[in-house]
Amino acid sequence: MNLAHLLLRQARTDVDRVVVFNGTQAHATHAEWAARCAGLVSRLHRAGLVPGDRVLLFMRNHPRYLEVLWAAWWAGLVVVPVNAKLHVREVEWIVANAQARWAFVTADVAPAPLAGPERQIDIDSQEADELLAAVPDATAVPVVERLPHDLAWLFYTSGTTGRPKGVMLTHRNLTTMGLTYFVDVDNIAAHDAIVYAAPMSHGVGLYAIPHLMAGARHVVPASGGVDPAELFELGGQLGPLSTFAAPTIVKRLVDHAEQAGLDAAVAARAFKTIVYGGAPMYGADIQRALRVMGPRFVQIYGQGETPMVGTALSRYHLGDTGHPRHLARIASVGVAQTPVQLRIGDAQGRELPTGEVGEVMVRGDSVMAGYWGNPEATAAAVRDGWLFTGDVGGLDNDGFLTLMDRSKDLIISGGSNIYPREVEEVLLTVPGVAEAAVVGAPDAEWGEVVVAFVVPRPGAAPTVEQLDAECLSRMARFKRPKRYLLVDTLPKNNYGKVLKTALREQLAAAAAEHDTKEEP
Ligand code: AMP
Repeated sequence: MNLAHLLLRQARTDVDRVVVFNGTQAHATHAEWAARCAGLVSRLHRAGLVPGDRVLLFMRNHPRYLEVLWAAWWAGLVVVPVNAKLHVREVEWIVANAQARWAFVTADVAPAPLAGPERQIDIDSQEADELLAAVPDATAVPVVERLPHDLAWLFYTSGTTGRPKGVMLTHRNLTTMGLTYFVDVDNIAAHDAIVYAAPMSHGVGLYAIPHLMAGARHVVPASGGVDPAELFELGGQLGPLSTFAAPTIVKRLVDHAEQAGLDAAVAARAFKTIVYGGAPMYGADIQRALRVMGPRFVQIYGQGETPMVGTALSRYHLGDTGHPRHLARIASVGVAQTPVQLRIGDAQGRELPTGEVGEVMVRGDSVMAGYWGNPEATAAAVRDGWLFTGDVGGLDNDGFLTLMDRSKDLIISGGSNIYPREVEEVLLTVPGVAEAAVVGAPDAEWGEVVVAFVVPRPGAAPTVEQLDAECLSRMARFKRPKRYLLVDTLPKNNYGKVLKTALREQLAAAAAEHDTKEEP
């Protein structure tokens, strides 16, 4: 089924209620949303775009994102969502690789014409107004038939090595993802609302699908991004809101709540559910978030290749403090989501016994159709239907998956494997530590040594001695960092993930000598 039918269904049954908001301003009802989509569909077809063609979205969060997205599907096209923080040259590479015909942009991220697309439309322009002008009868514009395996979303992965790869996601993949939300993440009712604070090109944008399935409301903050004060305020007016956010964004919300003296009751009025994932959430951080904001969190683990669907750590499990393995569970990513099987495999994909650490493999209807134009990479990533995620982790007897690290982040020191996550979890329990990231630095004697980057809380810097004492008391000696670097911030990408490659480069360049505090 074409995902566009989800919109038509709501446009027929729930005609006059405002469901899309720009800040607190009404932007569209379901019927208006559908009528504008239908207008764009007929103009896309008239301009010669044919089913299967790609259109690029290079935009900051914007209410029209939803209109272009659903119009593209309605017309049988494939959407290429692009991270708004990418460099123009990187975007042009994607345009060429995807052979995207049209690009919808906002002027802040694409002030000049991109090389490649036949047509570039500034979403705030009169040209866009004309393209999106509503037709009187949306149902008169037929939805282009799409089969379950037809492409809907071509998502370029961040590409830690080499060029990014275009992950091909089908209508079936995204329908599965949408339905799974209701089983494994949360219920959604028509009076609920999702807020798009994190980039819509990523997970939170995909969560438009389950929210449209339920006929819920969609809110784009006026700032187009993450401003904790604005989000609490919006939540107070239109909420309680649900959203998806990387752990760094969760942290900012929690910091704000704490600093502004907002208690859990205020948080409950502003936020229904905060789904977090996309990067590690440390045990100490989620405990603090639960303490400050109350039981409004659910974790998911997935990746572009199986979007938002892998495992989930439910509200129930996060709140089950009496369970003997509670601390281990909240530092895990939870259990397999309903439509997938999980396996921990060796390099050949052979299943390892429970408890052993290996590569996380996922199989099910959420797993991508492959990488665009890259059969070799597809064959390496998906074998017998199993997606080799590149993540390293282990399953316990109860089916909870604990991720260690990406295999490339693993540190091998003196022949022993060290998972940075373990060291980071310990560092984060030291009072005064706001953030920690651990990487390996080349070392003539040990091969690699452990280096910890630590961001102190304002006015509360821990000493190197304190950090080291905690590590010594909680971990094997060989895992303990050989160096601690106190820094103001950690480099992160647009989705809030710490860029460990950048940290390794910083070390290689031996920069910021004066910030370095060698261990005694
Ligand atoms: P992306 O494809 O950009 O969404 O990145 C997916 C990667 O982020 C995964 O392969 C994991 O390495 C990481 N990731 C996603 N969710 C989680 C999570 N809940 N905890 C830790 N890491 C995660």
